Amino acid sequence: MKKQNRVLLKISGEALMGKEKFGHDNTIIDQICEDIKEVYDLGYEVCLVVGGGNICRGVTVAEVGIERATADYMGMLATVINAIAVQSKLESKGLYTRVVSAIPIITIVEQYIRRKAIRHLEKGRIVIFASGTGNPFFTTDTGAVLRAIEMNCSIILKGTQVDGVYSEDPKKNNKAIRYKELSHEDVIKQNISVMDTTAITLAHDNKMPIRIFNIGKSGEFAKVLQNKGNYTTIK
Ligand code: UDP
Repeated sequence: MKKQNRVLLKISGEALMGKEKFGHDNTIIDQICEDIKEVYDLGYEVCLVVGGGNICRGVTVAEVGIERATADYMGMLATVINAIAVQSKLESKGLYTRVVSAIPIITIVEQYIRRKAIRHLEKGRIVIFASGTGNPFFTTDTGAVLRAIEMNCSIILKGTQVDGVYSEDPKKNNKAIRYKELSHEDVIKQNISVMDTTAITLAHDNKMPIRIFNIGKSGEFAKVLQNKGNYTTIK
């Protein structure tokens, strides 16, 4: 049974990078954490999945001759770095958090155990899921859908640099229109590159709605959850 007030926010590594070329942009991380606090204060239980692309992306690393699976493990470790950075920032705002990792790194973060993670949420802790699915050849988008299903979340919000899915690239064509709603099938059939196919298929099979919005816009996370602001819903 889905829990209406339990939501999952997927933050890409790129979002944490803001205007920087690598790593973290403190201003944007601070704003994102402020936005998460706003949602928490509205009474939502918040799950977070963080990406790692600002530090290491498996496909790119593999191009220089590192075996793909190894490169992917490097990528998953990058998500742990991001997770503890976000954790620290959230806690500085008075929130209680836990980082749970699909890959055990027990001196730094907790190991992911589904029932424990649910208990953390019930106790009002923000749970940050690190290491994606824990398996190479997957993405943190797939990790986000998987955890959202496991946690019985009602919706996934994917924070990107754009405020939804457009008919064309809005930066290249100002006549491009933003879709209000798309089906999971539309995204798969039209090959819309908003999430990888594994993630979308998993969401489709488990009737998990996803909303795409601009995470760089302060206050937008809370607005989009309350059906205000700009977004595209995929369901
Ligand atoms: N990764 C993986 N399995 C997972 C999740 C992530 O192997 O379940 C690796 C993969 O190499 C990926 C990297 O971790 O490129 C960082 O994750 P992702 O690219 O999804 O981050 P984002 O694009 O959201 O920043």
